[in-house]
Amino acid sequence: MAAADPEIARLVRAEERLQAETLRLIPSENYVSAAVLAATGTVLTNKYSEGYPGRRYYEGQQNIDPIEELARDRARALFRAEHANVQPYSGSPANLALYLAFAKPGDTVMGMSLPMGGHLTHGWEVSATGRWFRPVSYGVRRETGRVDMDEVRSAALFHRPKLIFCGGTAVPRTVDFAAFASIAEEVGAVLVADISHIAGLVAAGVHPSPVGHADVVSTTTHKTLRGPRGAMILCGAEHAKAVDHAVFPGLQGGPHNHTTAAIAVALREASGEDFRAYARAVVRNAARLADELLARGYDLASGGTDNHLILVDLTGRGVAGKPAAKALDRAGIVVNHNTVPYDTRRPFDPSGIRIGTPALTSRGLTEEHMPQVAAWIDRVVESVRTGNDLVEHQVRAEVAELMAAYPAPGLPVD
Ligand SMILES: *Cc1c(COP(=O)(O)O)cnc(C)c1O
Repeated sequence: MAAADPEIARLVRAEERLQAETLRLIPSENYVSAAVLAATGTVLTNKYSEGYPGRRYYEGQQNIDPIEELARDRARALFRAEHANVQPYSGSPANLALYLAFAKPGDTVMGMSLPMGGHLTHGWEVSATGRWFRPVSYGVRRETGRVDMDEVRSAALFHRPKLIFCGGTAVPRTVDFAAFASIAEEVGAVLVADISHIAGLVAAGVHPSPVGHADVVSTTTHKTLRGPRGAMILCGAEHAKAVDHAVFPGLQGGPHNHTTAAIAVALREASGEDFRAYARAVVRNAARLADELLARGYDLASGGTDNHLILVDLTGRGVAGKPAAKALDRAGIVVNHNTVPYDTRRPFDPSGIRIGTPALTSRGLTEEHMPQVAAWIDRVVESVRTGNDLVEHQVRAEVAELMAAYPAPGLPVD
């Protein structure tokens, strides 16, 4: 690559360095293993294979069919699902396929509102899903920061949605799949559990599984599951045909076979004891980091976390989310600014930051490091308020020193 395209090669090298030197706290990010990374860079990218194993529209599928079968079988075994589709290009197209499978344009659909922690594709207004369908949203209780299941039930009874989504992108607490399932059953809706953020925790048994409760489960493969960028849909045998048909030919063309292979590798990794230990450590690290932030006077949405994710409300610190996130980035700590429930600021300039422990746990950081991480965050946030930019440089050097001792999986070591 260096010879063929020095500009891109230089930027990729720079990104490798950045990922090696910084403390990555974006809860949807991770470090894939060298094996997963290798699978994404294979000749499988050269192949076309529209259709499904044994039923392709192209010849030459001798190796592609068994790769997709392995990925599907491993997904079914890991999540104990009857059927798996591993072809969705990413989480958003996976969800769009479910609208195509189970609803018609104009139908009512229900999901958690984006500013409360839901995803765009759960019917938010700027998304195609909110424009082509009639979205109804639910949120969390102001006092508890947890999903208000009474509100979900009464809204569902009133609006009679065809589809209900549970799960989200900024949900620090356990999702009650059984409660959602009983509401969906009561109103005759199809329940989709979108476990994109928590799939790795579900696979490892550290978050309850939606399988057996939700009609359909959608997930990305690149967050806590630690696979390549991609997605999967899991369901019972009764929905298999509708789901497969919606993904292809309903929405997509040829599957990305290099991604399918990398998903298979990631699923094999995720079925091992090392991965289960990893997922337990992700949750332990998040719990400890939350405690350390609380001890330093930070407000956390819902008061803490059950999973890998912490939503910090900076209102009480006199700093907005965006300047805090930018200062942390300059200090080598990568987070994203995020709305908090009942945010009084605008979505582009919200009151919170969202942090998570999947990536730092992949590098081997443990609970013992979390007081240090919280102290760094606190120093930088305070420095935004006091205007002391020296702190960013000091913290950046300290972060780089710690990270050098914990090499990133999959990255070349200089
Ligand atoms: C990340 C995410 C998605 C979308 O995945 P993309 O791969 O970014 O399209 C969908 N739903 C939830 C809950 C997510 O967290």
